[in-house]
Formats: sequence, C-alpha cells, structure tokens
Amino acid sequence: MKFDPGCIQFRLTAGMVLASILGFGGMTAWSNFRMQQILIQGHKKHAVDVAERFGQDVAWMDETLPSTMALEKVINYRSTPDTAIWIRSSDGDIIAQSDTLEMGSWQKDGLAESVLTLSPNQTLASVSIQGRQLIVCISPLEVNDTVLGDLFIIDDITQNQRSFSTVTKDLTLASIFVIGLSAIVIAIYVRQSIKPICKMNELAANVSPDNLADTHLEFDRAPTEVRDLAQAFNMMLGRLSGAWEQQRRFVSDVSHELRTPLTLVHGYLQSTLRRCNTLTEPQREGLEIAASEADRTIRLLQDLLDLARADGGHIRFHIERVSLKDMVLDTVEAGYPSSRVKVDIQSPGVDARADRNRLKQVLINLIDNAVKYSEDNTVVTVRLKQEGEWAMIQICDRGRGIPRTAITQIFEPFYRVDEDRSRVTGGTGLGLSIVKTLVEGMRGKIKVQSNPGDGSIFTVSLPS
Ligand code: ADP
Repeated sequence: MKFDPGCIQFRLTAGMVLASILGFGGMTAWSNFRMQQILIQGHKKHAVDVAERFGQDVAWMDETLPSTMALEKVINYRSTPDTAIWIRSSDGDIIAQSDTLEMGSWQKDGLAESVLTLSPNQTLASVSIQGRQLIVCISPLEVNDTVLGDLFIIDDITQNQRSFSTVTKDLTLASIFVIGLSAIVIAIYVRQSIKPICKMNELAANVSPDNLADTHLEFDRAPTEVRDLAQAFNMMLGRLSGAWEQQRRFVSDVSHELRTPLTLVHGYLQSTLRRCNTLTEPQREGLEIAASEADRTIRLLQDLLDLARADGGHIRFHIERVSLKDMVLDTVEAGYPSSRVKVDIQSPGVDARADRNRLKQVLINLIDNAVKYSEDNTVVTVRLKQEGEWAMIQICDRGRGIPRTAITQIFEPFYRVDEDRSRVTGGTGLGLSIVKTLVEGMRGKIKVQSNPGDGSIFTVSLPS
C-alpha cells in the first residue's frame, strides 16, 4: 500500500498519536516538575523548621550547660550525614560546627571549604556547588534575646536528586514505550475502522453496467455512519441499475420497431429501382440515395439491437470447441479477395472454446475494419497462434492506425476517430463495442496495438 499523507487513515492515526503524545508527554513532564518541586520544598521546609527551633533548643540547654557546649550539643543533635550546621559570629569566626563537615564526602572536592565561605546574603535557596545540589538556609541566631551570629544549615540533596533523576528517566522511557504501543494500536484500530470505506471505494471503482445489478454492499459490523452510507450507496446502485435497464430496453424496442418498417421501405425502393424503367435520371439517383441511407440505418439499428441485447445479457452463447484454422480460412476465403486478406497460421491446430456464430461476427467486423481503414494496395493479415492457455487471432493491417489518445475510446459505442471519414466508409461506430461485448461474453479478451501511420493489430484471445 502506498503512503499518502492526505488519506483519512493517516490523518486520523497522526491526530490520535499526536493527542496521545501530548497527553502522556504532558503528564510525564508535569509529574516530573511537581516531584522536583516537592523534593526541594520539603527539604527547604525542614531546614527552616530546624532554624526556627534552634534558638529555643539552645536556650533550654543553656540553663544547664555553658553556651558553646550547648550550641555544639544542639548542632550534633540536629546534624545528619547529609546536613551540616555551623554558627558564625558577626566577626566572621565560627563559634560551633557539626562534625559532618569533617566527613570525607564533605571534604571531597573542597565542598566543606566552599560552603564555609558562603555569605549570609542568601537566606533560603537551592544552589549547586562542586556538582552537588544543596539547600542553603541562613538565618540570624538569637538565644535569650541575644544575637549570637548567623546559623548556617546546609542540606545535601544530591543523592535524592539522583534517585529522582532515575525515576524521571524511567517514567520518560515508560511514556515513550506507551506512546509507541498506543501508536501501533491506534494505527490498527483506525485501519480496521475505515476498512469498509476502502471496500466501498474498491467496489465503486469496479461498478460497470455488467455488474450493476449484482453489486451490493453489506457491512454488519461497520460503524453506523458507514452502514448508512452503504445503504444510500446500495439505493443509488439500485436506481442506476433500473435506469440502465430502462435505457437498454428503450434502445432495443426502438431499434426493433424501426427496423421492420425500414426494411420494408428499403425493399420497396429496391424493387422500384429494379422494375421501373420509366424513371428519369434524377428520380433514379434520388431513389438510390434513399435506398442506401435506408440500408445504412437498418445496419445501425441492427447493431444497436445487438449491443442492447448483449449489454442486457440476453445473448446466449453456445460455447463449443472451435477449430480456429477452419473458421478463419472459411471466413476469409468466402468474403475477401486473396490479394487483400491473407492468413498466417503460426501454431497448427489452434482450438478455442467459443460460440461459432458470434466468433464469425467478431472476425468479420475486425477484418472489415482493417480493410476499410487501410489502402486497397496493402495486405491485411489474419494470424493464428497459441500462447499458453490462450488461442489468439490477430488482425493486422498497414493502414492509417489509431491515435494514442483514441485507443481506449474506440470500444465505446458511437466513438469514431475521424467522424467524416467514418461516415464515408459507412461505419456506425458500434462495430468495436459489439466485438468487445461478444469477446468478453465468450470469456475472452481483446486488445489493440497501433502506431499512427504504420497500421494496427487487433488481438482477440480466447480460452483454448
Ligand atoms: P465504425 O463503424 O466507424 O468502423 P467501429 O466501432 O468498428 O466503428 O470502430 C470505431 C472507430 O475505430 C472507427 O471509426 C475507426 O476510426 C477506428 N478503427 C477501427 N478499426 C480500425 C483500424 N483497423 N484502423 C484504424 N482505425 C480503426
């Protein structure tokens, strides 16, 4: 199946996949953002709580312990391996500090040294120092209404951030996987849903007068809209089929009704021309023109009648095994001068399954055309050959050929390449339509190859 970005299947799939990308992607981004916020805010709140209670804790200890010892006790009580606390006096001296700062993880890369130089400008912030993520909380420390200096609380949240990044990565991967999976499921679902429409399209493209009456759409499990559309389509086909049948019957009735009186008129004109010796030259000429026009119209009516019958499936084919060699030789010898039409048998004993009379009609029509549309001094060749399952008859002429643009149209009723010239040759424009209908009625095929100026080859293939 070729890729078409304009097709409904692609548009629906792309739309739904985009919606799921926005949905899942948005949800993942939002949860990542919120988790990050909650993590930082939680640590900040904890640091602020510790800072707020620090003064009270020291004051309570101060009653029993000397001041520096009380500070160190509270610091060690509040410190954890990831939390460092110290107090710096207004002179810049460190009054007390947690042992945490001596630990290897804080000494590594000079982290302890860097944080100890922090200025008390930033009161509460999340900062990155030496590749570590820290929550910094600095506040003045007041004990029993005396300001002792600044209290520094530093929370190292690097480990938590790493765990958080892993969760974020997993969540993102899971989202990509879910989006990919839903894209496949959506594509399959959309494909299934629009299958009835594709089938309808296929059917509509293959509807022809021959199968109009038998074409019917049936979708039991399709969506309601598609079922309604199929019903409307069936009703339209029904009306078309009725109109087609009516038109065919009309053509057939009119041709039949006109042919009988015209045959009488033609017969009368012929007998008058033959028997009456008292006719003046202009009278004779007038009657001759009338007889020839009546004859042409009778042939046209006969062709129309044949075509209407064939289209309506009213022609019965008596299919039998026919020796093409005998049939072609009989037809050519009986109807055409040997100098004008020659037979070329390339495969001996070519048999076809066909209706003898209809095949003869096909042959005569095609040979007549080849003779009509080529010069008298050229030769028309009727070739017989066998190709696989097919028996082939080729009628080749060296006439004027058929223009490329007209090749597909010459089998249409009343189509003539050169209207004026065809009228002179007495053609009705129905011959090839009848030929095609008859050949296809015998389960055969007809095709034409032609080079304008070089002649044409009509190939009739019949099952052998
Ligand atoms: P017609 O009665 O006019 O011959 P047909 O249906 O037999 O009608 O043919 C349709 C048109 O196809 C003709 O008018 C002619 O222009 C063209 N045609 C048919 N056979 C040949 C051929 N062998 N060489 C050139 N043109 C042809």
